[in-house]
Amino acid sequence: VLIGLAVLFIGVAVLLSYFMSKRALVPIQEAYHRQRQFVADASHELRTPLSVILSSVEALEMEEELTKNEFTQKLLDRLREEIKRMTKLMNDLLTLARADSAHASLQLVKETFDFRPHAERTLRLLEELASKKNIRMHFHSPESVMITADADKLTQLLYILLDNAIKYTPDGGEVTLSIAVNPAKQPMLTISVKDTGIGIPPESLDRIFDRFYRVDKARSRQQGGHGLGLSIAKWIVEAHGGTIHVQSEVGKGSEFIVKIPC
Ligand code: ADP
Repeated sequence: VLIGLAVLFIGVAVLLSYFMSKRALVPIQEAYHRQRQFVADASHELRTPLSVILSSVEALEMEEELTKNEFTQKLLDRLREEIKRMTKLMNDLLTLARADSAHASLQLVKETFDFRPHAERTLRLLEELASKKNIRMHFHSPESVMITADADKLTQLLYILLDNAIKYTPDGGEVTLSIAVNPAKQPMLTISVKDTGIGIPPESLDRIFDRFYRVDKARSRQQGGHGLGLSIAKWIVEAHGGTIHVQSEVGKGSEFIVKIPC
């Protein structure tokens, strides 16, 4: 009888705690879901007025009276810069809100393709930014890098890492991109983006992948950053079942190493 009562008591306790935790979880999950939806809706809604503002600025830029005047031209340049920054922020927020809304691997559109031309195109896109700072770009890759992955997302990942490497490298520095696939049984794509830039202090290495984290807010803002790039990069890598690591030394440079099973 005693053993029976003990079993009954434990059973009731387990059931009660199960239902209580469920009841507590539902509102938390619901609140989390609503918050994600709010961020997604807000960033989506803000994109329309932003594109209206941009086309108005473009219309004003056609007025010779305004562009001739140094003061108004300066204001128009500033407006355009801020619109660009806000559009990027809205797009990044929307990407992360979408990333949160479903299982990451379900959001990938995988295909088998050669990654090398994608990497070359991304480098070309950033060439102008690099040449403005006299930064030399190097590229190491075998003839072809055949992989099965989401081409757009991997290109976005490369863009984020290269853009950061250029942003955080002083004039006259170097940025090196290396890509390769090892021919093992389980093929692995390796991407390395190495720079001779300002580096990252050891106490920040764990945090740079957090949303909105920036080592130096003023410098990042001045470079047009808002601390979301690396969290998007991390999400893309993890959605592919891969890993991303960074090695860095302040004043010497950083290397971001991505490994993705492909
Ligand atoms: P941001 O838009 O500020 O560049 P990220 O999420 O891409 O945001 O990066 C977060 C922070 O990590 C940056 O603000 C910067 O402090 C640091 N960081 C990223 N890449 C590098 C790099 N290659 N060299 C030095 N610091 C970097």
